[in-house]
Amino acid sequence: MEDSRIDSLNLKARDDRFFRAAESVLKKYRICRRDRLEDGFVVFDVTGGTQDYVVRVHPEWLANPDCTCPDAAQRARVCTRGYCKHIIGVLLSNEEFRYQLLEAFL
Ligand SMILES: [Zn+2]
Repeated sequence: MEDSRIDSLNLKARDDRFFRAAESVLKKYRICRRDRLEDGFVVFDVTGGTQDYVVRVHPEWLANPDCTCPDAAQRARVCTRGYCKHIIGVLLSNEEFRYQLLEAFL
């Protein structure tokens, strides 16, 4: 198989994993948007999983979203530019920020 074909298959597998994980977040977790900005970020509490996490999204995308979970700092940093499933879940569930998902696929 050509390399480019293999690459696109790997991408597809990655993206599938990605959205399955995000889907589970949307089903299982509760995402609550705080009223106050924090350092210019919109803050979301992601609760209902084994642990609660905080996702921050910059409304003008001057910085990428971040999350307090360990995955965001480790595996997701390498595989998906730091976009863990909580970040994906938050972005998917907030239409105004959905465009920031793009970063994970570039
Ligand atoms: Zn996370």
